Amino acid sequence: MNPTFRVDVAIIGGGIAGLWLLARLRRRGYSALLIESDQLGAGQTLAAQGIIHGGAKYGLRGYAGPTADAVAGMPALWRRCLNGEEEIDLRDATLLADHQYLWATRAPTSRLTAFFASKLMRGHVEKLAEGAMEASDYPPVLRHPDFQGAVYRLDEPILDVASVLNVLAGHCQDAIVRSHGLAILKADGNLTLCHPERLQLVVRPSVTVFTAGAGNTGLPWATLQLRPLHMVMARGVHLPGAFYAHCVGAGDVPRLTVTSHYDAHGRLIWYLGGGLAEEGVRRDRREQIRAARRELHALLPWVDWNLVEFATFTIQRAEAYQRRGGRPATTGVFRDGRVIAAWPTKLALAPLLAEQIEAMLPTLGIKPKLHPVDLGPLAEWPRPGIGVYPWDREDLEWS
Ligand SMILES: Cc1cc2nc3c(=O)[nH]c(=O)nc-3n(C[C@H](O)[C@H](O)[C@H](O)COP(=O)(O)OP(=O)(O)OC[C@H]3O[C@@H](n4cnc5c(N)ncnc54)[C@H](O)[C@@H]3O)c2cc1C
Repeated sequence: MNPTFRVDVAIIGGGIAGLWLLARLRRRGYSALLIESDQLGAGQTLAAQGIIHGGAKYGLRGYAGPTADAVAGMPALWRRCLNGEEEIDLRDATLLADHQYLWATRAPTSRLTAFFASKLMRGHVEKLAEGAMEASDYPPVLRHPDFQGAVYRLDEPILDVASVLNVLAGHCQDAIVRSHGLAILKADGNLTLCHPERLQLVVRPSVTVFTAGAGNTGLPWATLQLRPLHMVMARGVHLPGAFYAHCVGAGDVPRLTVTSHYDAHGRLIWYLGGGLAEEGVRRDRREQIRAARRELHALLPWVDWNLVEFATFTIQRAEAYQRRGGRPATTGVFRDGRVIAAWPTKLALAPLLAEQIEAMLPTLGIKPKLHPVDLGPLAEWPRPGIGVYPWDREDLEWS
């Protein structure tokens, strides 16, 4: 007979949502276990740009809106975690940049100016002095005599996402297991962990939480939507240093969002999203690289883009279903009996999602334990590692 293991909360999926939830529940004394079918972060999380949004880019519509409200407190919360001032201690995680920029090639529209001047954003956005040559606090790539436009500094830190996953997983390594094959919830509420060389392990949770991103399927009361992106990466010694910025165009989403990372060989990568990635879903790889080169040349013509090589990949954002297919304003959390399905919508919102899920547990009769649960039966079970960043993938072609 297969061995069985009882736990109060089983979490399915080890992206940022599942790992943050596990770390929070364990800190508070709940008996919780996380099951991952691949590597930690292997879904959307390691493909994220790592920006802890405070809502500035949602102001491009000219008003704050519910998304800006939902994320407004996130930069401050994550900073407290990074300083070790919160329950989830991220002091060992790596901050790539303390803030990012928003830059407009021409004077920003009056609705944008009005938004930045609004009470909501006061303190979160700072307009830098105009005139490229005097603006020594401009990001290096914009300190060029040919640059004309406005630059704002946003209170939005950028994180090395793998380092965050590492810290979160490190807090509760004993409660994270790998299932070979997707974890499937049976009609009796049990989960079966599979391994090619072992007896299956049956997990009997009191509550099951799906934080499996695109894997939150088969739950008719919690439908997901997938929104594709065609992301671009650039690398080469001719990249003009690290850069973290949204470029504002005429539309509601940034024309281009740039973050910078280092690959496993220490090479600088520019990771390009925003409008380029959203519109790029209609283009194949070659067309998307051509579009990226065109866009970079138009925005930063003083850089020689011919000496930079590019790669692309497509990925789906997995979120709670919206009637018109648009971006959800905030987290999506749904419950049917003792099963919960959740999407953070943004990496930045993972702490809020964990708080919302924890708040549901007392009504289901789940309370923290006075004594830690014995995870002994899982001691020998395989553990997932941290997945790879897109720029370290070996299957992508650079040209
Ligand atoms: C290109 C891109 C850039 C982004 N940039 C940002 C950003 O800069 N800032 C921001 O705040 N947000 C950003 N986001 C959004 C953010 O990445 C996601 O909201 C967040 O990572 C979702 O995390 P998750 O844990 O819900 O899902 P995922 O990261 O998708 O994790 C799901 C996990 O579940 C596992 N799994 C799936 N099915 C099963 C199963 N049946 N059994 C066991 N395990 C299973 C998967 O292997 C995976 O590890 C970005 C998203 C994309 C796609």
